[in-house]
Amino acid sequence: MHNLIQELRGNVRVYARVRPFLPSDQVDASAQHCINVSAHDDSLAILKKDGSSDGNVLESHGFTFDRCFPPSAGQEVVFAEVSEFVQSALDGYNVCLFSYGQTGSGKTHTMQGFGSGPMKGIIPRAMEQVGRYKKMLEAQGWLYEMEVSFIEIYQEQIRDLLRSLAPPNGGAGEESTSTTHDIKKDGKGNMFVTDVAMIQLDPNDPQAVQRIMDVAGRHRSVGATSMNERSSRSHSVFTLHMRASNKERRSQLSGKLNLCDLAGSERLSRSNATGERLKETQAINKSLSALTDVFVAIANKQAHVPYRNSKLTYLLQQCLSGDGKTLMMINLSPTEQSYFESLCTLRFASQVNKC
Ligand code: ADP
Ligand code: MG
Repeated sequence: MHNLIQELRGNVRVYARVRPFLPSDQVDASAQHCINVSAHDDSLAILKKDGSSDGNVLESHGFTFDRCFPPSAGQEVVFAEVSEFVQSALDGYNVCLFSYGQTGSGKTHTMQGFGSGPMKGIIPRAMEQVGRYKKMLEAQGWLYEMEVSFIEIYQEQIRDLLRSLAPPNGGAGEESTSTTHDIKKDGKGNMFVTDVAMIQLDPNDPQAVQRIMDVAGRHRSVGATSMNERSSRSHSVFTLHMRASNKERRSQLSGKLNLCDLAGSERLSRSNATGERLKETQAINKSLSALTDVFVAIANKQAHVPYRNSKLTYLLQQCLSGDGKTLMMINLSPTEQSYFESLCTLRFASQVNKC
């Protein structure tokens, strides 16, 4: 039944999440969100108002997605709608969750969150779910093996964020700055990153999960002018690789869960970038537009889907095609200053929604 529904509705879902106002938005107490979410029918409206005290609406656009979360929706509410994707990976599917939106819209908050309490995001919550399921299946005679990898794609170059955790001489080992990683296809048609560190992880050990995030976070900031600056210009992909086998039943399955925090979607071309900055800007725009092109091709059922046009789409093609599953989480800022970027994000999302 589960699979039948999947076939009827395609393998891509789109959720939208509007974050609350933050002190850094510097809006006054009377300010209104420029995006109104109607959670009961999963629609939202983005409004452009004039500067008058009446706030006359100059322009408005409506959108409907698979789920729409208002600013009041916390991490737990969001995760409740995400957990079926985690379950699919446990069932042996290739699954990918993306967070998409302009810098400051809440992508990292959604994916990673903060700490180990109610503010924790999708990655630690997914690991808890996986851990519970692993325990349950082990009690039924299954053997579960889990490894994680965590990479960053920056200017179409792959960096291994967990290289310092790899055992020395263990294939990946100590990485010199010249180590390059490629994306290849193995004999079974599975995509993988060459020479990437695969770290065994017990999902029932929250400290081990936290350590992976901390190590990755430290590596991500290397060479960046500021951490947020780098992370806003690169994609990060956390992957949980799972293999399960049951001798008694002679069954085996493997699944992959990719949790991907995308580069900021803002129009960087307006920033008058030159030199190194310009190159960077073009590379980011290229990979995000390659992602858009892939969704457009899937939505239009084109025979050729241009997965190979970027590292990100090439690596994740199994999730986007065939019997993979993809969740695009659109993150939006509620401020009026973000009206234009939010509208661009919503237009991208409605393309994806046609898939
Ligand atoms: P991005 O990764 O898209 O650049 P962040 O996730 O870093 O954005 O979010 C920007 C700021 O907004 C952070 O301080 C974050 O903690 C806060 N924030 C984002 N979403 C929420 C939310 N739903 N509730 C509370 N704070 C949020
Ligand atoms: Mg971020």
